[in-house]
Amino acid sequence: MKFRILTLFPEMFEGFLEASIIGKAIENKRIKVDVEQIRTFSTDKHRKVDDYPFGGGAGMVMAVQPLRDALMSKPFAQSHKVVYLSPRGSTLTHEKVVELSMLEELILVCGHYEGVDQRFIDRYVDEEISIGDYVLTGGELAAMVMVDSISRMVDDVLKNEDSSKDESHASGLLEYPHYTRPSEIDGDNVPDVLLSGNHAEIDKWRLEKSLEITKERRPDLFQKYAGKTHDKATLKVLKKYL
Ligand code: SAM
Repeated sequence: MKFRILTLFPEMFEGFLEASIIGKAIENKRIKVDVEQIRTFSTDKHRKVDDYPFGGGAGMVMAVQPLRDALMSKPFAQSHKVVYLSPRGSTLTHEKVVELSMLEELILVCGHYEGVDQRFIDRYVDEEISIGDYVLTGGELAAMVMVDSISRMVDDVLKNEDSSKDESHASGLLEYPHYTRPSEIDGDNVPDVLLSGNHAEIDKWRLEKSLEITKERRPDLFQKYAGKTHDKATLKVLKKYL
């Protein structure tokens, strides 16, 4: 999968694209991430990219010309989407991450200052996405969140395929607790069932914990999960929490 990121601050992506799972995914050519400097495309002699808002008010607005020319500087893949990161967008969810991971190409436009001229959004943007109900100084961190979460869904990015299926949100529930060695530390023990080697019991315990945590922390997700169809074994456990 290919990502194109249009930004005024490409240097913000440096560490992110080199380290850990994302760095490996790029190295192994599972994903490609092009970070493109919008300013390069400004036709202004001082490479200006923003201007005062019509109608007055605080801050500067990113102008259409450099954004449009940056966006149009490369042909799009057949299946692609242009997303503008914006606090006005719909909030990013696991479902949206999975949907976007099916694309050949995702173009992420990072705003800065007061935002972007509405005419660019109206003409070129397919979707506005927010990463949460708060305001960032720019879209760069939000673009990193998108690249990170979507890349995990791309084949062969994670070593163990199962690790993305089992996690919080993937099943509709929040994840159960994890423990590692040693089995006792400072008097705190690992639950016995996890040391039992009985995989059916372990699965049951994990489901119970997931249900318990989800019901307590995210009743909205719990209700949604309870309304879905489940296999017999899951239903039996679920009934205890209804
Ligand atoms: N004036 C805008 C408003 O009130 O909606 C906020 C602009 S914000 C200071 C600058 C840029 O940061 C935005 O253009 C957007 O690209 C990005 N941004 C801020 N908060 C965001 C969020 N929650 N999710 C995604 N992008 C965000």
